[in-house]
Amino acid sequence: MSAPQVRKALLAWYDRTARDLPWRRSRDPYAIWVSEIMLQQTRVETVIPYYERFLTRFPHVHALASAAEDDVLAHWSGLGYYRRARLLHRGAQHVVAVHEGQVPRDPTQRLAMPGVGRYTAGAIGSIAYDLPEPIVDGNVARVLARMLAIDTALGERVTETRLWGEAAQLAQGERPGALNQALMELGALVCTPQKPRCVECPVREHCRAFAERRVDVLPVVPAKKAPKALQLVAVHAVDREGKVWLARSEGSLFGGLWGVPMSEGKGAALATDLTKRVGLSGTLSKKAVGHVRHVLTHRALAIEVFSLHGATGKAHATLKCLRADALDALGISTLTRKILQVGAASSLRSV
Ligand code: SF4
Repeated sequence: MSAPQVRKALLAWYDRTARDLPWRRSRDPYAIWVSEIMLQQTRVETVIPYYERFLTRFPHVHALASAAEDDVLAHWSGLGYYRRARLLHRGAQHVVAVHEGQVPRDPTQRLAMPGVGRYTAGAIGSIAYDLPEPIVDGNVARVLARMLAIDTALGERVTETRLWGEAAQLAQGERPGALNQALMELGALVCTPQKPRCVECPVREHCRAFAERRVDVLPVVPAKKAPKALQLVAVHAVDREGKVWLARSEGSLFGGLWGVPMSEGKGAALATDLTKRVGLSGTLSKKAVGHVRHVLTHRALAIEVFSLHGATGKAHATLKCLRADALDALGISTLTRKILQVGAASSLRSV
């Protein structure tokens, strides 16, 4: 691969065809940081409205740093992977406390920000500051693995070292930010996982996979593990006025989010125990009033939903009672919304 020629072809193609995405209209390192965190594991079309709402509510790093965590999570609600939002929030507080609100130009300082790894640091450095720093995400990895006919599997250390090294070489030239975005754009639109459109590809003549007719077998992708099945019990607790009790979740699955009280396991005995454990009392259904299935990246959840009528308790830092129309102001997961729907439907049936 001739880096200068590949760079030239990619930049010319990107200048002609780049999509007009909201974060591409900005060189503000904070806005680029937000967009890059949102785009991890999430599709561009899904991110756009979230990004716009988030930046309207938190237009600069000071606004985000001084916000309450619940407010931040509420603006992330539905986007999933809530740990990203909490780390972004902590990162903003770090930037305000340590760097006077300026996202650092220095890569070592950027890498010290909570939630910022090599990828995000490189994205901010190259796109916001036009520094010659590489980025390798899934799209870039696929493009480079094909262009260079890399035979070792993605995710293996030897492959990652090679990919980051090649991406670093490509970034050593004019407009590294545009170059990195061109690589990502090529992977997203042309060099797609299935049926890449090689006839339209600006780097076709530099691509070994194309020359060797191995486009279909590269990159080498490790076999995906099936998500682990997990059984849970949830208690949909509603007081006499129809307000719903929510608890701050424990554990890593939804750590820190407000949701219906849940516990790993199954059966009415566990629902009784869970109800007591969170500090609620009322009339608990003898059996599950509904079931919810929900798939996360590594977990396939099956949830038995029990209902607790006339629920009473004492609100505290990790337990609160809310009207349904106040839920939007909290960061609650899509799963919690599903459980609330199942619980509400069962309440209607029992009326
Ligand atoms: Fe990907 Fe085909 Fe372009 Fe090679 S020629 S980089 S396989 S789209």
